[in-house]
Amino acid sequence: MRKTLILSVLLSVTLISVNAQKNEKEVLQKLEQKSEDYGTIAQKIWNFAEMGYQEEKSAGLLQETLKDAGFSITKGVAGIPTAFIAEYGSGSPVIAILGEYDALPGLSQKAVAVKESANKAAGHACGHHLFGTASTAAAISTKEWLAANNMQGTIRFYGTPAEEGGSGKVYMVREGLFNDVDIALHWHPGAQNAASAGAALANKSAKFRFHGVSAHAAGSPDKGRSALDGVEAMNIMVNMMREHIPQEARIHYVITAGGKAPNVVPDFAEVYYYARHNSRNVVIDIFDRMVKAAEGAALGTGTTMDYEMIGGTHELLPNLTLQKLVHDNLSEVGGIEYTEEENIFADKIAKTLGKEKADLAVAKNIQPYKTEARAYGSTDVGDVSFTVPTVGFGTATWVPGTPAHSWQAVAAGGTSIANKGMMVAAKTLTKTAMDLFKDKKLVEQAKTEFLEKRGADFKYIPLLGVRAPALDYRN
Ligand SMILES: [Zn+2]
Repeated sequence: MRKTLILSVLLSVTLISVNAQKNEKEVLQKLEQKSEDYGTIAQKIWNFAEMGYQEEKSAGLLQETLKDAGFSITKGVAGIPTAFIAEYGSGSPVIAILGEYDALPGLSQKAVAVKESANKAAGHACGHHLFGTASTAAAISTKEWLAANNMQGTIRFYGTPAEEGGSGKVYMVREGLFNDVDIALHWHPGAQNAASAGAALANKSAKFRFHGVSAHAAGSPDKGRSALDGVEAMNIMVNMMREHIPQEARIHYVITAGGKAPNVVPDFAEVYYYARHNSRNVVIDIFDRMVKAAEGAALGTGTTMDYEMIGGTHELLPNLTLQKLVHDNLSEVGGIEYTEEENIFADKIAKTLGKEKADLAVAKNIQPYKTEARAYGSTDVGDVSFTVPTVGFGTATWVPGTPAHSWQAVAAGGTSIANKGMMVAAKTLTKTAMDLFKDKKLVEQAKTEFLEKRGADFKYIPLLGVRAPALDYRN
């Protein structure tokens, strides 16, 4: 009798552990149990705070984590040392999960509710330490579910460096690394939980360099030709052009070199430009006109000009089939609740943003679903979205009301608040991946919508052209 009891207990324990991997609910519970481990990984990357194309330690840590979980790793893809692909399984469908891990220059910050530098060159002001870690967690839990159920299909994690200005994914798309992918999933840290069909602006950026002739500015000005005049003449023409371009276009520039001393006619000057619009064809047109303005400026000032493409990304191509699925999954997972300690931190952060206290309902709830959400940033996910059906969402990893690229985002990113928001993302990605592996019809439906929206005669042309990855753009 006793023996039977022990046996049956043993048997049920075994059954539970098998079920734990087979059953989707258990997969999510297991993921929740590992939230502390993933929090530790994210905090390590937060501390590394490595900038675009310099993310050796961050990429290394994620590779190690994926390798230990049974993924095969291909490093240094597309000519980028910190880009990699981790893969498990075989055959179709191929579901890709994107992960970023680059930090932003000049935004070093401690995990405290006052502005206080951690004295590093960069900080995770866009939460990419969470982005890479949640996507890794989701890839691993999906893999475990696939294995336990003997399912056919391939789960891939794409380690995509230098999102901030480096256009890392564009080189990976150009290399054809997404060609056999069926669906790509991504997410982004933020100040709220939302899975609406977001927009992003296509962009092109370049550095325009003018070369003149140095001379004493007072003694022999007739012998000199000012490179700075070239830059200024170009800027005047581009600023006039603003009146004659489509609405919603954006042009911004900074003068990155303009001479060293007023009494020396500068023989070198440089201006760094961005053009953006929600249609890449408009961006291409504006950019071509900017080049004409630069050529005209050089001609008129007796200087010469050359330019280097730095970045270029497509706008985002939304996929409503996938978007609705992700919204439903995010709603099921639900938002986050703060502990009292987190609440105190959040209220302090809210005060620095001009608010009485933090709006905790925003962290707890999911934003209503919209088929068209406005956004004015750009992302290299755009190029992926024109290659395969792609879907994304955001979770509340920062105190509600926090803008991206702020010290408040870095600060919250180093706390348990960020880890909670990150796990919401990991679970939503996992649920969505499992749904796609189970339902081939859904994958086909998403593909049909994708092909219809992209157009039958679409040909992928990278906006940054044929240049090699700008591996030193942060040096
Ligand atoms: Zn970002």
